[in-house]
Amino acid sequence: MSQEKAQEAPAKENVDFIRAKIIADNASGRFGGKVHTRFPPEPNGYLHLGHAKSICLNFGVAKEFGGLCNLRFDDTNPTKEETEYVDSIKEDVRWLGGSWDDREFYASNYFEQLYAYAEQLIQMGKAYVDDLTADEIREYRGTLKEPGRESPYRNRSVEENLDLFRRMRAGEFPDGSHVLRAKIDMASPNLTMRDPTLYRIRHAAHHRTGDAWCIYPMYDFTHPLSDSIEGITHSLCTLEFVNNRDFYNWILETLGVYHPEQTEFARLNLTHTVLSKRKLIQLVKEGYVKGWDDPRMPTLCALRRKGVPPEALHDFCRRIGLAKSDSVVDYGLLEFCIREYLNAHTPRWMAVLDPVKVVIDNYPEDQEEVFEMPLHPEDASYGSRKVPFARELYIDRDDFRMDPPKKYFRLAPGREVRLRYAYFVTCTEVKTDEAGNVLEIHCTYDPASKGGNSPDGRKVKGTIHWVSARHAIPAEVRLYDHLFLDDDPNDVPEGKTFLDLVNPDSMKTVQARLEPAMAAVKVGEAVQFERVGYFCKDRDSTEELAVFNRTATLRDSWAKIEKKG
Ligand code: ATP
Ligand code: MG
Repeated sequence: MSQEKAQEAPAKENVDFIRAKIIADNASGRFGGKVHTRFPPEPNGYLHLGHAKSICLNFGVAKEFGGLCNLRFDDTNPTKEETEYVDSIKEDVRWLGGSWDDREFYASNYFEQLYAYAEQLIQMGKAYVDDLTADEIREYRGTLKEPGRESPYRNRSVEENLDLFRRMRAGEFPDGSHVLRAKIDMASPNLTMRDPTLYRIRHAAHHRTGDAWCIYPMYDFTHPLSDSIEGITHSLCTLEFVNNRDFYNWILETLGVYHPEQTEFARLNLTHTVLSKRKLIQLVKEGYVKGWDDPRMPTLCALRRKGVPPEALHDFCRRIGLAKSDSVVDYGLLEFCIREYLNAHTPRWMAVLDPVKVVIDNYPEDQEEVFEMPLHPEDASYGSRKVPFARELYIDRDDFRMDPPKKYFRLAPGREVRLRYAYFVTCTEVKTDEAGNVLEIHCTYDPASKGGNSPDGRKVKGTIHWVSARHAIPAEVRLYDHLFLDDDPNDVPEGKTFLDLVNPDSMKTVQARLEPAMAAVKVGEAVQFERVGYFCKDRDSTEELAVFNRTATLRDSWAKIEKKG
């Protein structure tokens, strides 16, 4: 017990259990002080937020301890994997700051060596060719309560097994007719130790090895051996692999090869979000979203397109930490991290999302002024921009009320407000249609309040943003809501699927007006629309029409929750 305690005790305060373990391993010289991790995606879909957690951990730990992290594609399933996915994964890992130099590996590179290991197991009497069907194998496996039964083919001779396995490789048998299994223990309390399958027949082309193979190694067999071949020290994986750890150790011990250590951590679960490639593929293929990088998706390419900076994801992963049991993280925490970063790192602009016209009756029709405004209120290094002012402006419809409720300090009939950095204006008249919708607001301005400064010490309670009608440029702005309104879209009511829970109003498009200097904003650039939120210029933008995605609103619900708690 005391020994266990000593191992658990982190050398430093406040480190998670994995870092504590590495510190302890380094202190004891377990791997010669070496730290070598890997990030092992299967190239069968795009990476999502869950993968970001694994990337931050594996590449992060390597960096912190002066070690290395490999990028390894776990490409053992020929029918689901594609080069498109390989390329997107590389782009996403790079975006998150993961660097693997020339250590880009593929499990498929090891097929020949893995095959040799399999023959070695047969020679040792530790593997056999089974003719049971997949269904029969499942049936023979038994349950948690009942031991399994041994296959009638389990005691084939080494010679017969070798002959059959070689003929499997040579393509003599159809899919599903034979498998190679490890010979361990059909009564093991751990079901994964009941003679797990090592190889199966798949007459299918592979995205890298083409038609070279018609037998493919199983993930459970491939993974520990790939770790071993690459000299990985700490093999970090998610909790669902806890039961596979026995087999991980068995295969490396049985073959007597270099033995990394597997450690499991809890996978990321997030409210309002599905994080399973299978489900994400369905959303894309069945048209619920417009593609893998639709900004409503939890994929890394979608977050990037939406304007989420990689730094915010690093901050998020640091804050959620690492645990040994599953939990669900509030989506609000992610938004908090996004706002935190963007607040400090984006230029400010004025954009009117729901324009209503304001006419300043006492401002000469042919007059024009230009106000210079800072691009960031606290960081002068952002510089400034020039904003034209004229007689006709747009303000946000929401910044005006015919009958203002209590504590509403923006524009209303008879009321004076500040137009940000420009002038004090007073509402003198409102034109509406028959239904009472506001068509045009008339104001007078106080020339003495130039720059938005009070001329005589009188105060106005509201400051609103605006753009000059004549100078403004049009933009399409896409406002996003959760793709799933339910807290847990994985918890589906009976008779429904998660697809039934998709929010039909997850995207709203508005026609906005922007201050003209925003024409210089580049695709992919993140900005703050003052008083509105954070936005990012989208690649759908054209010469005529800028398109912006809302990255996050300004509202900071998480901070409030934290304060309350
Ligand atoms: P999915 O369930 O979405 O299909 P996966 O685990 O099959 O994901 P892989 O490509 O095998 O996807 O994952 C690569 C690495 O990322 C693995 O080490 C896996 O444990 C890790 N990973 C995947 N999803 C999460 C998650 N939600 N949280 C943390 N790590 C994850
Ligand atoms: Mg997987």
